[in-house]
Amino acid sequence: MRAAMAAAEVGDDCYGDDPTVLALEQRIAERLGKPAAVFVPTGTMANQIAVRLHCRPGDAVATHPGAHVRIHEDASAAALSGAQIMPIGARHGYRVDDLAALAAEEACGWPPVRLVWLENTVGDAGGAVWPLVGPTPAQTAAGVDAMADISLWAHTHGRAVHLDGARLWNAHIASGVTMDRLAAVADTVSVALSKGLGAPMGSVLAGPVELIEQARRVKHSFGGGFRQAGVVAAAGLFALDHNVSRLADDHRRARLLAEAIAPLPCWDVATPQTNLVIARVAAPWTDAESLCAPLRDNGVLCYPNVAREVRFAVHMGIDDDALAAVAAAIIATVTDLVE
Ligand SMILES: *Cc1c(COP(=O)(O)O)cnc(C)c1O
Repeated sequence: MRAAMAAAEVGDDCYGDDPTVLALEQRIAERLGKPAAVFVPTGTMANQIAVRLHCRPGDAVATHPGAHVRIHEDASAAALSGAQIMPIGARHGYRVDDLAALAAEEACGWPPVRLVWLENTVGDAGGAVWPLVGPTPAQTAAGVDAMADISLWAHTHGRAVHLDGARLWNAHIASGVTMDRLAAVADTVSVALSKGLGAPMGSVLAGPVELIEQARRVKHSFGGGFRQAGVVAAAGLFALDHNVSRLADDHRRARLLAEAIAPLPCWDVATPQTNLVIARVAAPWTDAESLCAPLRDNGVLCYPNVAREVRFAVHMGIDDDALAAVAAAIIATVTDLVE
């Protein structure tokens, strides 16, 4: 990847003539089944451009309470675009009925829901895949409806749909559903190159030609024009060629890690669907940070997902040997604390 970056042919992205950026945008647009795409520095910027494209000040964005756009983007939908996020449904998903119930209140001075927001995989849920079609028992248990049903309701009722697909590659590998089918539910979709795919930075926002043309202006106004960006776009192209199918290894290792640490007495560990392992702290005598601090001291980098959940992310830097070492270090550290 570093060699590909060093060899990248570059132009000036602000003038739209960086050939490596243009190649990356075209490849991702095709992969997502959208007519156009724009390369931006971060997933947060891709999401915030989407909010700006679809909403005017005073509009609402409907999404699940644990959505990245609601809890991890510094209230920027409000700060940058004057949009209010209306949480609906369960922490990690919602149903068509939740959306319809919110829309039914609009006449009473409630902000109109212009944008219906989906996220796949759901980061706060430990990278759970939001199913495209349903219903399945897992959906029922999680309190979510199928994405396709939600999208159909939105479009039937004149609402736009954005899919935060920072982790969509993981959903694709875990479910076997193609990227373009997963993205078909949404008008605009953002995907990250910098998470599981291992590029140092970069996300891409894809959608209709006219919207993406507007997105280029918004990107610049948000400070996202980044000149010889082909250097980083080359990392993204390399990641598309080499780092997508190998996500299955991350998912396999995450399951192994979950199995290895589940017997420890202080937490409940769910079987991960993708690369994030969430350990829910059950012991009353401790919390997530009190476990994470000694784990970090012993070389296991992790952090509280919320106050009572420890999150471990398995990534391409963790091979089988490293995973075994991590599992052993977690078991040793936690056993010490318990004794
Ligand atoms: C990481 C992430 C983002 C934001 O990406 P950054 O590049 O860190 O700004 C948005 N949505 C989800 C679901 C993410 O996991």
